[in-house]
Amino acid sequence: HDDLNVFDPLITAAITEEVERQEAHIELIASENYTSRAVMQAQGSQLTNKYAEGYPGRRYYGGCEFVDKAEQLAIERACDLFGADYANVQPHSGAQANAAVFMALVKPGDTVLGMSLAHGGHLTHGAAPNFSGKHYNAIQYGLDPETGEIDYDDVERLANEHQPKLIIAGFSAYSRVIDWRRFRSIADNVGAWLLVDMAHVAGLVAADLYPSPLPHAHVVTTTTHKTLRGPRGGMILSANGDADLYKKLNAAVFPGQQGGPLMHVIAAKAVAFKEAMCQDFVNYQRQVLANAQVMAETFIERGFDVVSGGTNDHLFLVSLIKQGITGKDADAALGRAHITVNKNTVPNDPQSPFVTSGLRIGTPAITTRGMVEADCVQLAGWICDVLDALEQGDATEAVEAEVRDQVARLCARYPVYGDAKTSAMA
Ligand code: PLP
Repeated sequence: HDDLNVFDPLITAAITEEVERQEAHIELIASENYTSRAVMQAQGSQLTNKYAEGYPGRRYYGGCEFVDKAEQLAIERACDLFGADYANVQPHSGAQANAAVFMALVKPGDTVLGMSLAHGGHLTHGAAPNFSGKHYNAIQYGLDPETGEIDYDDVERLANEHQPKLIIAGFSAYSRVIDWRRFRSIADNVGAWLLVDMAHVAGLVAADLYPSPLPHAHVVTTTTHKTLRGPRGGMILSANGDADLYKKLNAAVFPGQQGGPLMHVIAAKAVAFKEAMCQDFVNYQRQVLANAQVMAETFIERGFDVVSGGTNDHLFLVSLIKQGITGKDADAALGRAHITVNKNTVPNDPQSPFVTSGLRIGTPAITTRGMVEADCVQLAGWICDVLDALEQGDATEAVEAEVRDQVARLCARYPVYGDAKTSAMA
């Protein structure tokens, strides 16, 4: 069974079609990116075969001397990259990392305070259907509907009123710089732990283009696959110098939440951290920001409302309330034009979270392809054309077809991996 193409044509077809989709569609989902071949090589390696429960030098299995090297490198590079003195690179995902931190710091039933999903927080920050909302008394803060920015006074009021044991800052959809210091002072005032989930901006933080939460938070979690452009996975960091805390966090990941770590993914994380230390990576992140800014400006020029009036990071939210179109319909229309975005709730959204009145647009993936400002202005213009047609209910099919043709030409100019037709494999 050495050849996937021969042994399993159905899975080969699914992979080939997905590779072709990635090459031929414009990806504007703010949480997605394209990893390097080096990352995928590590992730596709024989390290997948190894059990290594425990931590480097303290394993429950034999034969761990080489995977220990990989994990140690990942830990050291993560600490260097983010100025941390603690890193746990084992969480299988961002959600697992957050679950482990909850387990280490609070008990079921304790009060936690996080940003609501509808206002840009993540499920794991206390949303009702998630473990964080089910097992804890989750209080939720959100945005000031006037400014579209976090209402820090309200966060403070809620903290004073509910006395949470844990406050969570960080987001899945927010286009401004978070005042980490303010969050820490709110947490200190009520004696709460501060967890910052920097999943979305980790790459910008690594490049020093977004303020680091490490000096302010007790604990920082992240995913490794968004702006950081590594393999799909999670990580926990701290710069607190608190050995007791680190012991608790390690125990919460293993054996608290997980069994054997994914050593192939951990090796790939180490590769991604090395990449993030290169000047190329900093240049890339600068371009991510510049691209997001010109796209947001183009939307504003074309008469669309951008939540908070612009962006200082890799994403922004377009409100379609004024146009009277839903995020769901806009998402579907753009999908037909081969442009992938998310529908997203926006402040004062009259629609349900499944329908919404907004779109979340992010530039990490298109920037990895090499797109620059001029491409982004053009691309934003095409999106506006599709949305205008949808609003007017006029010639939608023709506009979508025209944009689909333009998208095909743009994608051909900026291949992701370059050999979609010849190989499904990394
Ligand atoms: N935290 C934030 C802020 C996120 O945006 C996400 C994913 O979208 C996660 C955590 C969860 O990461 P994962 O999907 O790897 O569990």
